[in-house]
Amino acid sequence: PISIFWFRRDLRLEDNAGLHHALKSKYPVLPLFIFDTEILDKLENRQDARVEFIQKTVSEIAQKLKKNGSALLVKTGNPEVVFGEVLQEYNVQEVYVNHDYEPYACQRDEHIESLLSAKNIPFFTFKDQVIFEKAEVVKEDSKPYSVYTPYRKKWEATLKPFHLKAYPVLKYTQHFLKTEPLPFPDLKSLGFEPAGIKFPSAKPDVEIIRQYEKHRDFPALEGTTRLGLHLRFGTISIRKLVAFALKENAVFLSELIWREFFMQILYHFPEVETQAFKPAYDNIKWRNNEAEFQRWCKGKTGFPLVDAGMRQMNETGFMHNRVRMVTASFLVKHLLIDWRWGEAYFAEKLLDYDLAANNGNWQWVTGCGCDAAPYFRIFNPESQLKKFDSKLEYVKKWLPELGSTAYPKPMVEHAFARERCLAAYKKGLAEK
Ligand code: FAD
Repeated sequence: PISIFWFRRDLRLEDNAGLHHALKSKYPVLPLFIFDTEILDKLENRQDARVEFIQKTVSEIAQKLKKNGSALLVKTGNPEVVFGEVLQEYNVQEVYVNHDYEPYACQRDEHIESLLSAKNIPFFTFKDQVIFEKAEVVKEDSKPYSVYTPYRKKWEATLKPFHLKAYPVLKYTQHFLKTEPLPFPDLKSLGFEPAGIKFPSAKPDVEIIRQYEKHRDFPALEGTTRLGLHLRFGTISIRKLVAFALKENAVFLSELIWREFFMQILYHFPEVETQAFKPAYDNIKWRNNEAEFQRWCKGKTGFPLVDAGMRQMNETGFMHNRVRMVTASFLVKHLLIDWRWGEAYFAEKLLDYDLAANNGNWQWVTGCGCDAAPYFRIFNPESQLKKFDSKLEYVKKWLPELGSTAYPKPMVEHAFARERCLAAYKKGLAEK
């Protein structure tokens, strides 16, 4: 008889709540990872660096387990089918996981749970990816917050040392099932190739965090942590990071709270996945010009800060936050293209892509989200450039042809686009 711990967005062997509880169970633990073909088959880019990152990380976990005389069971397929197989191959008594919040994951887990319960196998699930989830931080009347600052205050007031306590794993390693190493798929056999991207380290850089508010808005500097990817896949513990942020920098901590703010918005208002948080904004008539959208995607708008950002993301899977705001605003406000088009493009390209954060930020930029900036505040991409990359260091890095005749002319005039946007928003918002 064994217990299964199923890894998903929690790819680490330290401070892992679900794994900790599995190891304290009565049975030896066989950890499982599933390359989910429901997700992989939908990815158009066969060089998707996120698949490479997962494959590499999971393989490191398997190596560590091997040193311990235990193993990671790796399967490829639809999770329900895979669980069917695993239950045939092993005498499974219990299954442990960490909560996963995205709508697809919730549905998947419901199916697995009912498949297991038909065989009287309990499915234990734990909070691990956030400090506060679902309805843990709500208003006095139990309604969810939709404004950030009061949410942050309540979040901070609710936090106790208990919430940051680590869930040790390493001291229980003798409780993993002792077994020979099991087969492990390489990237090619999964149908993918390396993207040639260098992944950022999962170790927080103390100096970056200490100087965070001084440097974080300047895209030419290494002013932000690049931990987004690690928070996405759980290769860093949020408890450890929050404990560190509490000690070192309140502004940085507040960014981690934004992450949880948008997660709870998606939980309480799942309709935001496809609709504006403020429904009136769905009356805006977007222009949705396909050719203009393509110019934006390729970084050929003629606005250096927008183009540099898009090319940075296309080439590396990362874009600086300040530039994410400017590129997103340009798409929605200067080109009047539906924010959902931009959201989908970012989802395809960002290594740190996260449904709640991406959706929340796109809606914020558009003005239709909770606690969004007023819609009539329209970023001027030229003044943003002067303010945040005055020496043109960032834009020159990504736009080698800048200043030559090969660089495109601005595809739209700022003052004209601004007026057109204000008129379209006004008209849409006036409709019943
Ligand atoms: P740091 O500045 O070092 O911040 C540390 C962590 O705090 C981040 O990794 C992230 O987990 C969290 N964080 C910081 N800012 C935000 C924010 N505004 N909202 C939510 N969490 C935040 N972030 C994502 O994690 N995934 C996305 O898909 C995503 N899409 C975005 C789309 C748009 C249009 C915009 C404007 C922002 C988006 N962000 C997204 C938020 C932010 O840009 C990134 O989290 C940040 O740039 C990642 O870089 P970093 O890890 O160096 O962040």
